[in-house]
Amino acid sequence: MDKLIIDARLNEYTPRHPNPNVPFSPAEIALDAAACRAAGASIVHYHARDPETGAASSDPALYAETARRIRAACDALVMPTLGANTVVDLDARIGHIERMANSPATRADLVPLDLASVSLPIWTPGQPAVAGDDLVYHNSVGVLKRLAARARAVGAVPLAAIWNVGSLRLLEALAQTGVLPCRIFAELFTTEGGLIAGHPGTPRGLAALVDFVPTTIDCHWAVACYGASNLELARIAIEQGGHVAIGLGDYAYPELAGGKPTNAEVVAEVVSIARRCGREIATPLEVRALLAWN
Ligand code: ZN
Repeated sequence: MDKLIIDARLNEYTPRHPNPNVPFSPAEIALDAAACRAAGASIVHYHARDPETGAASSDPALYAETARRIRAACDALVMPTLGANTVVDLDARIGHIERMANSPATRADLVPLDLASVSLPIWTPGQPAVAGDDLVYHNSVGVLKRLAARARAVGAVPLAAIWNVGSLRLLEALAQTGVLPCRIFAELFTTEGGLIAGHPGTPRGLAALVDFVPTTIDCHWAVACYGASNLELARIAIEQGGHVAIGLGDYAYPELAGGKPTNAEVVAEVVSIARRCGREIATPLEVRALLAWN
């Protein structure tokens, strides 16, 4: 079986309540990234945040400073976000990646492309109304083509973020037509905690995605779960030869380390599951060799 690739999803736009270990500043993110790398992660994914308030930021300087500090601290592959539904302008989504490419010290290794346009309804059973009336994450095919081309121009390798079975069909189409590489890392997103746009974060929700991972391309899939624990799905993925994307950006993991684990402690838990399943852990060098434009 392939060695296990672990992507540490450090912070997203997640607040520090209930877990205060979510990193905000470039220094905090870099320290956290190095600890995750030491625990077994080969990829680190981050969002720029206001260092004081944690508010979402699109500041290219913050993105670059964070990458510079991560590179200085460890050899993990660096994957900044392109923003979420909060960023709609194409230049704002990819501009920081292009600026970061000016120096090897700040260049992004990977960039995530969400292969779906989705409404973002918020609802938990029992609530009288569905929230998120105006929330839409726009990722038209044209936008994805332009983002992929601009990422490729600066040597950043795309990672496919998968929301549903349609995302997987689009992945196959974009890879078969040269927009995306034919060997690609795809993160299968499940969503819980009130966000009902993705598949449920359950074994059935994951299985429905895994069933449609395209076989005509060399797709290496990982499971992610936003809004609930990913540990059971991680075990299933590890047993099936899949990979794991996990971190405090997605969920606080109160079941670990006395209730308030660090990202590295979450990664260490995944590594211990992998050891029990007999999976070895991939190094950043091995992941870099696997995922190149081809
Ligand atoms: Zn993210």
